[in-house]
Amino acid sequence: MTYKFNIAHLYAPYLNIYGDIGNIIALKQRCQWRGIEVSVESISSCQEIIGRDFDLFFIGGGQDKQQEVIAYDLAKYAKEFKSYVDDTNCVVLAICGGYQLLGHYYKPHTGDKLPGISLIDAYTVASNTRMIGNVVVKLPDGSTLVGFENHSGKTHLGSQIEPIGKVLLGCGNNGEDGGEGAHYKNIFGTYLHGSLLPKNPNFADKLILLGLQRKYNIKELNPLVDDFENLAHNLAVNFKR
Ligand code: GLN
Repeated sequence: MTYKFNIAHLYAPYLNIYGDIGNIIALKQRCQWRGIEVSVESISSCQEIIGRDFDLFFIGGGQDKQQEVIAYDLAKYAKEFKSYVDDTNCVVLAICGGYQLLGHYYKPHTGDKLPGISLIDAYTVASNTRMIGNVVVKLPDGSTLVGFENHSGKTHLGSQIEPIGKVLLGCGNNGEDGGEGAHYKNIFGTYLHGSLLPKNPNFADKLILLGLQRKYNIKELNPLVDDFENLAHNLAVNFKR
């Protein structure tokens, strides 16, 4: 049987800093290596997703200016996007600026609050310090995620949502509560650029499997030889900031 995996890349021309396109490349390649038929569609307005079938939505990071450009489109179609995610249980991976806009709002340094879509119970306020550098996160199963952060926004999670993991190195959501990212159902937000997925192959495969399990009775993916990916991961885990 040939599995199909459809990826929607939201606002690609605007939210794609610090190499976040590498997440799309990693997802696509890890599917292709397994003979999974994968499609990637660049979505410039959430109006385009209505009535379509996507297994995973990716939204990358961006400076305040880029966030301003897309925030109002995302908010305009918030209701449709939220019902889509709830009804289809699709996977959402949001990085930094994209992550911030999944919450209730993002208050930049200057100007008004940018509306979020309240897909996750969180809010973000820009701080006076930029949180920059390598990050190591410990996941609930004891494994690690590695990446690079560069944000001034401090994200605070509400009671209905958990962080992806605990910060072992770096700042994470806000540099105060020790949490990094947010996880709710199949929705994952994180500050980890890098890009994230090439150096975190197990997490990449987790997202692919969750997306496939929406449509297929599949329990696990065929393993890949991840020697280089794991070498990069382990070098990053042992990096001292
Ligand atoms: N503009 C946001 C901040 O500075 C997000 C930055 C980013 O996506 N790296 O917090």
